[in-house]
Amino acid sequence: MATDLQIPVRRIVSVNPATGEVLRELACAGEADVFAAVARARAAQAAWAELGLRHRIAVLREFQGKLHARKSEIAAAITGEVGKPLVESLVTEVLVVLDAARFLVDRAWRVLRDEPIPHGNLATKLKSGWLVREPHGLVGIISPWNYPFSIPATETLAALVAGNAVVLKPSELTPLVALELASLLHASGVPEEVFQVVVGDGPAGAALLRSPIDKLVFTGSVATGKRIAAAAAERLLPVVLELGGKDPMLVLDDANVDVASSAAVWGAFVNAGQACLSVERGYVHRSLYESFAQACAQKTKQLRIGNGMHPNTDVGPMIREQQVQIVESHVEDAKARGARVLAGGKRLPELGVNFYAPTVLADVTHDMRIMREETFGPVLPLMAFDNDDEAVRMANDSEYGLAASVWTRDSKRGERLARRIHAGTVMVNDVISCFGISEAPHGGVKASGLGRTHGRFGLEEMVRLKYLDVDRMPGMKKVWWHGYGESFRRQMEGFLDMQFARGLGMRVRGAFRAAGVLRRRQL
Ligand code: NAD
Repeated sequence: MATDLQIPVRRIVSVNPATGEVLRELACAGEADVFAAVARARAAQAAWAELGLRHRIAVLREFQGKLHARKSEIAAAITGEVGKPLVESLVTEVLVVLDAARFLVDRAWRVLRDEPIPHGNLATKLKSGWLVREPHGLVGIISPWNYPFSIPATETLAALVAGNAVVLKPSELTPLVALELASLLHASGVPEEVFQVVVGDGPAGAALLRSPIDKLVFTGSVATGKRIAAAAAERLLPVVLELGGKDPMLVLDDANVDVASSAAVWGAFVNAGQACLSVERGYVHRSLYESFAQACAQKTKQLRIGNGMHPNTDVGPMIREQQVQIVESHVEDAKARGARVLAGGKRLPELGVNFYAPTVLADVTHDMRIMREETFGPVLPLMAFDNDDEAVRMANDSEYGLAASVWTRDSKRGERLARRIHAGTVMVNDVISCFGISEAPHGGVKASGLGRTHGRFGLEEMVRLKYLDVDRMPGMKKVWWHGYGESFRRQMEGFLDMQFARGLGMRVRGAFRAAGVLRRRQL
């Protein structure tokens, strides 16, 4: 029976976080839209794979040229939707993607080509082994809002060059940047069905997970990541999970205070602290602690906060009110438990609803939420340590393990400590820039995730391995086939001795016994 009742179409509203201006309203994809996009992409994937790697690399080169030509426009679109300063949009988003394309253009061939697998075991010497890398087919990508261009674009480029089709479900807060990515890719020669964006919220992401995709690359919070992992386990869907972080910075007693404090301020406040690789925990040797904390506070007070579109802005707004509330609650909890506020520690309502002052907290402890939960905002909490062992213990005392940094004038000492820290990446004397090193794998351990994006290992995630075994003696039965008996058992013992006995004499005797196998009668 027809009814007048209509299910309201959910809307996705893109808002400029600095001004509150509505940029655009879009329809939110429902389950049927997501499944239709997946069906179209599936149907188009085989032809894309058949075009060959050379063609797909040429498309990436074209994409690189088009992105370079539109770099300022894309940077402005990113700043408009996320609020970060224009320079950050250019350097941490556009440049990262240009370089990821450069890496894939240069290296995809070497990573994806067939690879011979030589056999060591004498029993299998007469076979050729090959590793063949095949596209998964259809890769689903679900991405967050904080790096709305560089995260989905780097993952998409790797998936496409490997011969997959991609359906991207970007964050509901940043759909416009994802649509810019689509227009660049389509203009560069990626067929519209091979790369599609479904604009939608969490339920649209959940629908993508239920749809017949072959692999999912998810970037987002630990809470959503756990839900994704549970749903993926039900259908044994391979997933990459790039999740949250609580990255420690270890400032050793021989560190350069001026350099390390500038790094801490940039590492904690870039993108208003909304980076998975943000410095979220500062551990400083007691001998430098007070001077380091004062240097951080003094540099923080010099930061210019405002709309990211203004060229002099150092720190822009946060993305939305809920994110500001998390920061506020972490700072209030720390203050109530005895932390000292050296800079900031409050909202900046005179600038707009989403502005929170870059904040330096001293004398925090691991009992405070600010040192245990991901804050994802402009706060630099500092704590003193007495020796390297204690610093490593503090760094590892976290459920997260995305990245970390060690600051010292002695790089060998830094390297030794770096090896003891539980994290996917540890930088000695730098922070965050690992994300822009296209050759470097990106990903975490512990609650920070599974698998890798970027670099060779990120590309390997976009293919499944097929081992191809070709026997070079098609007319010969294998000696290990049926027709067993006591003499065969002894011959096999000899064969094992020939290959693995410690003494030369035993190996030679083994070879003589094994030779009998050539006269064996088989079925
Ligand atoms: P989020 O988990 O809220 O959302 C991420 C994406 O998942 C969005 O597109 C969202 O719509 C979608 N989603 C939400 N619920 C879903 C569901 N049930 N099923 C499927 N999809 C669903 O995260 P966010 O707030 O957008 O991003 C911030 C988080 O992302 C932080 O924790 C940050 O550390 C993390 N992050 C990690 C990395 C990394 O590389 N490790 C990079 C950037 C951000």
